[in-house]
Parts: sequence; C-alpha cells; structure tokens
Amino acid sequence: EATKKEDAVIEGAAQIGIEVRKELDFPKWYQQVLTKSEMLEYYDVSGCYILRPWAYNIWKEITAFFDAEIMELGVEDAYFPMFVSSKVLEREKDHIEGFAPEVAWVTKAGQSDLEEPVALRPTSETVMYPYFAKWIRSHRDLPLKLNQWCNVVRWEFKHPQPFLRTREFLWQEGHTAHLTKPEADVEVRQILSLYAQVYEDLLAVPVVQGVKSEKEKFAGGLYTTTVEGFIPTTGRGIQAGTSHCLGQNFSKMFNIVVEDPNAPANTTEEEAKKLFVWQNSWGLSTRAIGIMVMVHGDDKGLVLPPRVATIQAIVIPCGLTVKTTEEEKRKVEEVVNEVVKRLKKAGVKAKADLRENYTPGYKFNHWELRGVPLRLEIGPQDLKKSQVTSVRRDTGARSTIPLADVESSVPASLTTIQADMYARAKKQQVESIRRVDRWEDFVPALDEKKLVLIPWCDRGDCEENIKERSARSGTEGEEQDEKAPAMGAKSLCCPFDQPTENPIVPGVTKCVACGQDAKHHMLFGRSY
Ligand code: AMP
Repeated sequence: EATKKEDAVIEGAAQIGIEVRKELDFPKWYQQVLTKSEMLEYYDVSGCYILRPWAYNIWKEITAFFDAEIMELGVEDAYFPMFVSSKVLEREKDHIEGFAPEVAWVTKAGQSDLEEPVALRPTSETVMYPYFAKWIRSHRDLPLKLNQWCNVVRWEFKHPQPFLRTREFLWQEGHTAHLTKPEADVEVRQILSLYAQVYEDLLAVPVVQGVKSEKEKFAGGLYTTTVEGFIPTTGRGIQAGTSHCLGQNFSKMFNIVVEDPNAPANTTEEEAKKLFVWQNSWGLSTRAIGIMVMVHGDDKGLVLPPRVATIQAIVIPCGLTVKTTEEEKRKVEEVVNEVVKRLKKAGVKAKADLRENYTPGYKFNHWELRGVPLRLEIGPQDLKKSQVTSVRRDTGARSTIPLADVESSVPASLTTIQADMYARAKKQQVESIRRVDRWEDFVPALDEKKLVLIPWCDRGDCEENIKERSARSGTEGEEQDEKAPAMGAKSLCCPFDQPTENPIVPGVTKCVACGQDAKHHMLFGRSY
C-alpha cells in the first residue's frame, strides 16, 4: 500500500500542478483536478460543494443546449417552491418509501418548533401534481409539459463525491402529462435521446441507453429509462440521466383526470368516463460534469471537450527573451490580440494570456491544468514565418498554422479534438463491456474493471443474489462505497441495442446467474 501511494506521486510536480497519477490514486487525483482547476471548492457542510465559474459555465452550456431542445418539444419552464408539506410528500406510497430516508426536514424557525415540519424537495413530483390536478380540466389541456431548473436536496448517506453524489445538486426536472400511454412512451425516449446527446455530443462521453430493472427503477414509477456512463479508471458504471414513465400511479393518487374525449356526444358529466392521465418525469443533474472530468482528465489535470469549454483557445506570447527588442515584443502582443479578435469573430472562445510576471512555461501549465482544448503560441520566429504554433490539450500534438488561416484552422482543430475525444472514450467503453456466458467469468471480469453483459432472467431475487455473490468475500459489513472496490455488482440497464450475434433464444438461453430462462441481455457492473 505504501509503495502504491509513493508510486502515485508525480515526481517534481510543481505545487500548482496535479501531484498524483490518475491511475494510481484516483480519489486524490479527482479532488486535486477539481480544486486546482478552480472548478470546485470544498465546503463545511458535508456533501455540499461550491461550483466555481469554471464548472458553472459548463453547466450553463448544458442548460442552454437542453433547454432549447425541450422548448422545441413544447416544454415550458416554470418554478415551484422548494418546500413540501409532509401531507403531500407522503401521498404516493412507493414514492415516499423510496425517498424517505434521504428527505431533509425543516423543523425549526429561529428558536420555535414549526407546528408542521416542511421537507426540502428531493424531487418535485409531489410538489407539482396537486396543481396538475387543478390545471388539467379537459383533454384539451393535454399534453401539459413543464420543466424546472432548480436545486434538490437528498441527504445521502453513501460516501459523498463532488458532482457525482452530493446532498444538494442542480438539475432540471421535466414533468409532463399525456392522454395516452403511447404518447408518454414516445416522449420518454425523445428525452433520453437528448440526454445521450448532452453526454456524447457536448461532453464527448459515450453512454449506453436502456431500461432499468424493476429493482432499480424510480420509486413510484412504471418504468425507468437511463443513460449509463462508465468510468474506465475504476471500472464502475454510473447512472448518468433518467427518463421515467410514471404511468398512472401518480395521477391516481393526485386525482389528475380528464373526461374521455371519445365519449358519446350527449353523455352527461356524471356519466362520462374519467381517464387518469399518463405522466413522465425526467432529470439530468450536475453529476454530468463529474463524469466528464473522470473520463477525460489526465495526469496534467482537466481535459475539456471544446463544445463546453469556457475558453477554447488560449493565445500565449512566446519566445521573448532578454534579447527581444521592445518593438518586437510590442509586435508579438499586437498579433496575439489581433488573433484573439479574429478568432472571436469566427465564433471561437479565445483569450490572450498577456500576464507580465509569468513565464510561458507557467502559463502552459496553468491552462493545461484547466483543460483548455487548444493553445496557440506566437513568438518572433512565428511572426517571421507568418504562422502560429498550436498545441492540442488532449494529445499534446503540435502543429503550425499559417497566420492567415486561423479563422478556418482553429475551428477545424476544435471539431477534430471534440470528435477524437469522443472516439477514444467510445473505444474504451466498447472494450470495457464484456459479454459473459458463464458465472465463473462474471466476477473476474468485474475485477478487470469491466462491465458485464449477460443473458438474464429479469428477476429481483436473482439480482439480489448477483449482488451478494459478486462482492469479494471478506468485505462483508464493509461500507459499500468507492473505498470498497469489491462491492457487489448492480444491474445497470437492459440496453436497447441488444446483441445481434448469439441473441437470446427464448426457452433455450439460460440466465448466467441462476440458470432459469433468460429474457434478454442485461448490463451489470460495480457502480457509483
Ligand atoms: P432520479 O430522480 O433519482 O431519477 O435522479 C435523476 C438523475 O439525477 C439521476 O439519473 C442522476 O444522474 C442524478 N442524481 C441522483 N442523485 C444524485 C446526487 N445525489 N447527486 C448528483 N446527482 C444525482
């Protein structure tokens, strides 16, 4: 253990840089990347963190993209209060059973006890649906599609992790009501596909889309679809976003009904059949930022995908020595400023680093640590050749660009970086999903940091059993968090893309874990 820790330390790492290797001390690496890149600050309430501008700007990119997309689907933003009364919160039994242990309550105001304690929303189904019942009077009020960008509070007891599992987090929660199940089903998938786009197109993080098992679905819902992420360094899966079909469970509890639009013309109000609406809810949180950091960061720090980077190209004057004349220096700075101006005009988020008291080397480290996708260096030699030198953050590759071409070259490089980052992560994800046909291979695959895809019977008992049997022996009673890499495997999802090679043959293919008939291929893994 001691040597492992020592190996993890990067020799001679400057105080400002990351001092440990990602592969060798991942928890410390993650903590240092987040704080040293100035994304995040620790806070004195456990499980709560400060999101600094470098992180919050990424959230803004995500919200801008997603909000525009859901507006296209006819969703409107609204805002509901963060407090919820116990009476309303407890209306849907399964729902509250799922959330009760994590609900935080306000019991006091100043010194006096509240007559009725109020809860902080862990999610807003119960906050919103009494008003859905009031507002939805007729089938003409359907579909109702609302979204809110807000914070929620879940007093999690598992080990907190910045972004991934926090007690207060930012998210959007969409809540919609439809006349029919098919309509609700379509929307569930539209939203899930937008979540996949947030991860794959913006954050360059591949995900697996699928359906959660009964055990893992949203409390009180009918079924849950999910995008599942993967952290190669730890070999663990992570639920990256969820789109739930709530069915009619909540509409029955909250009495959200409309008259049957197909009832005969002269039916009286009493005679008309009441239809309970079909509801969906869907949420994506700041967890996305943590997944992106974990997937793309390296020993030098953060690596930002260009599409969400606050600064896409940092332009740094270089090669200025004691021999450089004032005139040459002025010329270099002038070109640096001009390049930034031209890049901005071309839609690139560019910035000049003209700080006087820092060496170029210091500036390189500074921006590498912060993950800026592209560095442009401009010095007297470059000017003589009418060129700039560009260096990619993701690969370290250097190249020269004719000064006249920056408007076309830089955006093209950014597009390439974005695509390459996704392709590398995708390759790693594909190589980390192992198809397993015998139980003997299940735990060894997990121990090799893989996720496993198995023919599965789809039974809750079997799922419990898999979790127990895949926890490495001797870890009983150990806290089930990232300090216990030998934790049991959970089902992650039943991927929509089922294998076409050796597919399930009904009645023939058996469940790898219990031997009963397999229903489909299921993805299992150790997870966050
Ligand atoms: P849920 O309402 O439980 O389906 O959660 C919606 C999404 O929020 C999940 O898919 C997670 O990605 C994310 N999430 C859940 N709990 C947390 C948490 N404690 N911290 C950050 N994100 C979370």
